[in-house]
Amino acid sequence: MGIAGVHHQSGLPFVPQIEDIPQFALGQIESVGYVVWCDGTGEAVIVDPGAATDQMLSAVAEWASPVAAVLLTHAHLDHVEGLGLVRDYTDAPIYLHAEDRPLLDALPAQAAMFGLTVPEVPPPDEELSDGDHFRFGESTFEVVHTPGHSPGHVILRAVEDGFVLVGDLVFAGSIGRTDLPGGDYRALFESIRKHVLTLPDDTRLYSGHGPETTVGHERIGNPFLIHMEGERSEKAVAHRQRSGLTAFRGVVRSASPACASNHVSRSISG
Ligand SMILES: [Zn+2]
Ligand SMILES: [Zn+2]
Repeated sequence: MGIAGVHHQSGLPFVPQIEDIPQFALGQIESVGYVVWCDGTGEAVIVDPGAATDQMLSAVAEWASPVAAVLLTHAHLDHVEGLGLVRDYTDAPIYLHAEDRPLLDALPAQAAMFGLTVPEVPPPDEELSDGDHFRFGESTFEVVHTPGHSPGHVILRAVEDGFVLVGDLVFAGSIGRTDLPGGDYRALFESIRKHVLTLPDDTRLYSGHGPETTVGHERIGNPFLIHMEGERSEKAVAHRQRSGLTAFRGVVRSASPACASNHVSRSISG
């Protein structure tokens, strides 16, 4: 299976290294969309068509075709604003978890929160559900429901390959923000604990913002996760709620409109 991330600002395909420093620019949303294709058949899926959608479509034209589907990890503005462009290019069905449908329906309100406007986007054609196995060509994604950043957030695990598209659940050195409508930080931590930290250390993680990382790298190096290993009790979650996370959430509200802010991870880890 092949995969390419397309960076919003440069528009160039890239293979990020985990040593790279995430370059979140305050005041603008810098998202990463992905094109994943089956080596055997060339069939592709587009994941999270945000502001880089035109470049993603160019990549599809160059490397892969046809598009089997458009998969959304969640329905925040920066992951869906290119849906209209995608629909102009392909009739491939759009998939979204049902619990994020209200967010998509409220896209103009999402944009207004950040002083932005957004073009009309087509509605999803199909629902993604936990445990679904989505096949394209000879490749398969397992759909895993991971609420917390948003109610219907999902991650996509490449069953035959060692990587996962994790959307805004977790980033290199940071985690998804939970102060947007429908966010739930306890659910976010539970999703990460159950569905990310249980994966082998060498599993590659491709996030909706920032560079590629691995489970092992985040297990030992992510300041939000290093105390989670072996943690099971409600008490520990409550403790985190009273201490570190309270500060974290406060900072996020005043930071950039991106779904995570490097400003936050720097201020915590620095
Ligand atoms: Zn995002
Ligand atoms: Zn998001």
